Amino acid sequence: MKSFDYVIVGAGSAGCVLAARLSEDPACSVALLEAGGEDESRAARQPNQWPLLWDRAEAWGYATTLQAGYNMRSIPCPRGKALGGTSAINAMMYVRGHARDYDHWRELGNEGWGWSDVLPYFLKSQDQQRGASAWHGVGGPLAVSDQISPNRLNLAFIEAAVAAGHRRNPDFNGEFADGAGLYQVTMRNGERCSTATAFLAPARERSNLHVMTRARTMRVLLEGDHAAGVDYFDGSQVERIYAAREVILSAGAIDTPKLLMLSGIGDPAKLEPHGVTVRHALRGVGANLCDHPGTALVLGLREVDQPLPTSILAEGGMFMKSARLNDGFDADIQFFSVPFVPLQAGAVGKAQFMSIVVQACRPKSRGQVTLRSADPFDTPIIDPRYMTHPYDLALQIEGLKTAREIVSQEPLKSLIANELLPGATAMDDVSLEQHVRVMSQCIWHPVGTCRMGRGDDAVVDAQLRVQGIHALRVVDASIMPQIISGNTNAPTIMIAEKAADMILS
Ligand SMILES: Cc1cc2nc3c(=O)[nH]c(=O)nc-3n(C[C@H](O)[C@H](O)[C@H](O)COP(=O)(O)OP(=O)(O)OC[C@H]3O[C@@H](n4cnc5c(N)ncnc54)[C@H](O)[C@@H]3O)c2cc1C
Repeated sequence: MKSFDYVIVGAGSAGCVLAARLSEDPACSVALLEAGGEDESRAARQPNQWPLLWDRAEAWGYATTLQAGYNMRSIPCPRGKALGGTSAINAMMYVRGHARDYDHWRELGNEGWGWSDVLPYFLKSQDQQRGASAWHGVGGPLAVSDQISPNRLNLAFIEAAVAAGHRRNPDFNGEFADGAGLYQVTMRNGERCSTATAFLAPARERSNLHVMTRARTMRVLLEGDHAAGVDYFDGSQVERIYAAREVILSAGAIDTPKLLMLSGIGDPAKLEPHGVTVRHALRGVGANLCDHPGTALVLGLREVDQPLPTSILAEGGMFMKSARLNDGFDADIQFFSVPFVPLQAGAVGKAQFMSIVVQACRPKSRGQVTLRSADPFDTPIIDPRYMTHPYDLALQIEGLKTAREIVSQEPLKSLIANELLPGATAMDDVSLEQHVRVMSQCIWHPVGTCRMGRGDDAVVDAQLRVQGIHALRVVDASIMPQIISGNTNAPTIMIAEKAADMILS
């Protein structure tokens, strides 16, 4: 009988951190189960290759349902399937969100998750190239670096934003949130620093850590209201592994709620039609799905540009407060300056276009993840309901207008030949709405499907324990009670750092 103190499902951004931290205690035995493989490929390490990673044969292959708010289009929903999970395929931007994001989490009833509570865990994980400060840590496993090869178009975007009246921001994770600047990245020596590289690799020699790749968990094994272990498929047969202390789900915002539902934990109305026996009714499992929308202003370039291998392509950016819709948060709209469109063109060579991508920081549209069937190998139904809330639409339109103002400033202006999309004829809000609905994608930040909090749609408490079930926790992006005002990798790593501390103490 295989038994470990902790059985962690999913070796992604959160799972690798958790496995590494829990196994620091030699008295704990830890099993980490990952559905994918090792993934040491060059493409995964080389920064400018990231847009090619989600189309590989070994991927989850997820896409959303047809989105009514997006003119009935389905949007790809790439998820990493290897050690490192989505941190092994992402764009490597290191953004924590803003202090107010976490104070808001605490106000929602999550004691211990305010900014002053979580900042130490951000610092703990970090090895910041710029050195230690009140905002940054050094000596942690995760390399956070300045970019080596920012493209001249991204630098021009920053100068043009300053010329348009926005402040310069040398550090999006520093003293203030708004302004234009370069993103810092999770890279070391010009190569990707996933959580597998940063946290797991140095821990793998420990005899108390057992990493199992190609081990696809099918369900949590429940004995009454106690999580006793998991069943997983090893490629040829179903195996069982027991947890003496806890099962921890870190399978991400799509697969963690799916696993809970396959185990009979969820909304009875969504389980019973598939013949899944309800073991514990928990309405919020799979609900509250939130993701950042992304809408591009696409521009023709006067001269073709070529990214260097160390480029993450979308190097420059900006945060700003909305003129009309700010509700006390530090920023409402995030921008990405992307000189290579489509992104895949940047990964394979030259690109003739650039885009400025606009993202509402805290969209209000909410969707859900549900089962397609009771078959663990079936894909889940992913319905983020993008752009179904008027607030999100208003911010995307305001962002596009701001992007146009920036493009009209030097030094960017003279590098641009023309606006291709939505184009010079689309000036009024109706035309811009049409552009948002026809062209928007997402920024790949699904969260919230196992929301932390109180109330009957919360799934985990502030200790990340699944409500009503013993010895079962969720530790990944799905627990975010509200999406943060930025990219979600660093916050997910912070969540795992904090969870490890809570578990070990
Ligand atoms: C294309 C793209 C670009 C992005 N760019 C950025 C960026 O630049 N900066 C940023 O901050 N964020 C970025 N993100 C988002 C960020 O990477 C994610 O929010 C974060 O990685 C989520 O971490 P997680 O631990 O919740 O899930 P994941 O990292 O997805 O980990 C889940 C793991 O569980 C495994 N798993 C799932 N189901 C099972 C099962 N049944 N059995 C066993 N294992 C299973 C998966 O294979 C995976 O390894 C990006 C995302 C994408 C897709």
